Amino acid sequence: MTRIQGTTRLAGVIGWPLDHSLSPAMHNAVYQELGLDWVYVPLAVQDEGGLRSLVTAIRSLPFVGFNITMPYKEEILELCDEVAMAASMAGAVNTVHCTSDGRLIGYNTDGRGLLESLSTDASFDPSGKSVVLLGAGGAAAGAFVALILAKCARITVVNRSLERAEELLDRMAPRAGGIDLDAVTQEEAEDVVGAADLVINATPVGMNPEAESPVPVEWLTEGQVVLDMVYGTAVPTRLVTGGREAGAHVLDGLGMLVAQGATAVDIWNADAQVRTPRETMRAAAQRELAVRNGSEVSG
Ligand code: NAP
Repeated sequence: MTRIQGTTRLAGVIGWPLDHSLSPAMHNAVYQELGLDWVYVPLAVQDEGGLRSLVTAIRSLPFVGFNITMPYKEEILELCDEVAMAASMAGAVNTVHCTSDGRLIGYNTDGRGLLESLSTDASFDPSGKSVVLLGAGGAAAGAFVALILAKCARITVVNRSLERAEELLDRMAPRAGGIDLDAVTQEEAEDVVGAADLVINATPVGMNPEAESPVPVEWLTEGQVVLDMVYGTAVPTRLVTGGREAGAHVLDGLGMLVAQGATAVDIWNADAQVRTPRETMRAAAQRELAVRNGSEVSG
């Protein structure tokens, strides 16, 4: 049990809704393991006005930092005093550090979490590889930046709305020198999906147990790595089961979620020079999911 006392510092997650967030369980477990006198709380705000008031209040409270999830990852950028390069490129902040001199520094640890999960859970390095990114929203933008920094050879964005995919490509192209970029609709994606080394689902398709896969699973091929950002569903998503049937190396989004959360703690606790134990956070998330016994979850 977390011990809350007069010296306890605060962390938390801002979003709406937060009912199914796994972050409080993951964070509080690891603070206890590390002996940190911190407590992590859900900070549900219903609209942008609420977000602004909350961030103003945070400036005068003993916060070490906070996470931001849907729908405020873009809005928070202008409320930060400084934004790290990857977060600025992605146009999305999911982690803010409240520094000792009272500044709010924004980061995007989703992209770093993606690369860490690929490396740790699949021994996969995107360098020189061909990647298909399903989706063109905030999570896809974070992944896109991480893939640029990892120097992959080719990124094809597959999205329901081609216009949104092209907008994402146009935004990223100036920083993606040397990487082949393309945008296609789902209907045109069969060949590129089949030939990819890595397929990433950055759409919410699959969160609903009735949902099909974001692309037909028959297009997946043996030896590919498939990472579905969706996590915590009562049964594996159709992309996950179909990928396994095709002989792909399949990851769900839990490893990425754990890595993005652990990277946030690494940032807030940098002075201690201790790597945040990922296994503690993963075990806490899995325990929380087991308690929920099959209910839907979100970040
Ligand atoms: P977002 O900004 O709302 O973007 C959603 C994207 O999915 C858009 O490209 C949208 O296409 C597409 N999409 C939505 N519904 C669709 C459908 N029924 N069929 C086909 N495409 C559909 O959301 P986001 O913030 O990027 O998040 C996407 C997912 O990633 C969520 O499930 C989120 O929980 C997950 N996520 C996981 C992690 C993790 O750590 N594992 C981290 C971040 C996000 P249009 O452009 O055509 O609308």
